[in-house]
Amino acid sequence: MEEKFYRDSFAEVDLDAIHYNVRQMRGRLAEKTGVYAVVKANGYGHGDIQVARTAIEAGAERLAVALLDEALRLRKAGITVPILVMGYTRPEDAPLAARENITVTVYQEEWIERVRDTGETPLQVHLKLDTGMGRIGVRSETEMEGVLSALRSTENVRLTGVFTHFATADEGDLSHYKEQNERLTRLLEYFGESWSGEVDVHTGNSAAGMRFPEHMFQYVRFGIGMYGLYPSGDVKEERPIDLHPAFSLHSTLIHVKKLEEGEAISYGATYRTNPGEWIGTVPLGYADGWIRKLQGMEVLVNGKRCEIVGRICMDQFMVRLDECYPTGTEVVLIGRQKDAEIEMDEIADYVDTINYEIPCIITSRVPRVFK
Ligand code: PLP
Repeated sequence: MEEKFYRDSFAEVDLDAIHYNVRQMRGRLAEKTGVYAVVKANGYGHGDIQVARTAIEAGAERLAVALLDEALRLRKAGITVPILVMGYTRPEDAPLAARENITVTVYQEEWIERVRDTGETPLQVHLKLDTGMGRIGVRSETEMEGVLSALRSTENVRLTGVFTHFATADEGDLSHYKEQNERLTRLLEYFGESWSGEVDVHTGNSAAGMRFPEHMFQYVRFGIGMYGLYPSGDVKEERPIDLHPAFSLHSTLIHVKKLEEGEAISYGATYRTNPGEWIGTVPLGYADGWIRKLQGMEVLVNGKRCEIVGRICMDQFMVRLDECYPTGTEVVLIGRQKDAEIEMDEIADYVDTINYEIPCIITSRVPRVFK
């Protein structure tokens, strides 16, 4: 159930869009390839539990998160599908992960030695291969052998998957992607020769899954695309599948005034009004994740673009209106209003970042409303 709130600023999350995007990805993939819905970081700021449930309804078989805490939240909400923690889990927390049937990622021999004989319930693990992301994972056959031999002598840990992550699957220049695939092939060959158990293999993120469905193994890990955003880089131009953005950001005008020439607006008095300008105040600020760098960006009022003038405060900012509007008039910061639209990508470009970052930085003070 959504919590009650008492402010006019909120993020609307369109769960039908999430459903649509998962179906789009499924339609692009081969029958044999399933979907991990990536719901880390509170579902990229959209709401992890609601997104997870919708993705499962749409046909995602599994969930992936970055942290054990995130997986536990999903379990607490009653979600029972397999969950993979893709980041680091502390060895002392392995018995908890096992009890909650949460799969964790391994890549260090010492880690397995630390969890040996620590829990009653068998722990499921996926082995991470670092084929060129340079973050976590075994990089060579020797390192892999270290982990595999530790696993062979550890009864309470069961290897059920092997995976890697691509650094440049969204780019036009695919040389590094190819190199990663070559390293992957070599490591998987070695794995096949030295490990007898059946495992699932998964490699692709949204970009790789959309662009190269034929390269995918048992699963793709579908993150940004599920939220209706194209990964950064050249795939944004290609748009191999149609996606619907799920996140929009809304507020209202809480104060409207007409000012004489040269009146100061906000901290530092960096903006001075032109004669007879209408200025509206919007109750959202950098404590909501609407960061100060967004000064000069536009918002939608009555389907028209209005510039943010003066510095963005912690809880409020001001816009220059084209005419007088009553207080309570809707303001759209991300999304559509009438025939106008401000896309997540426009906001991201404006503050020189990627679309992934924007919904993640809209803080928990902004209620998420699901439709
Ligand atoms: N797999 C791993 C290991 C990740 O870290 C991420 C996200 O950062 C994903 C999959 C999902 O990637 P994307 O959001 O580009 O689909």
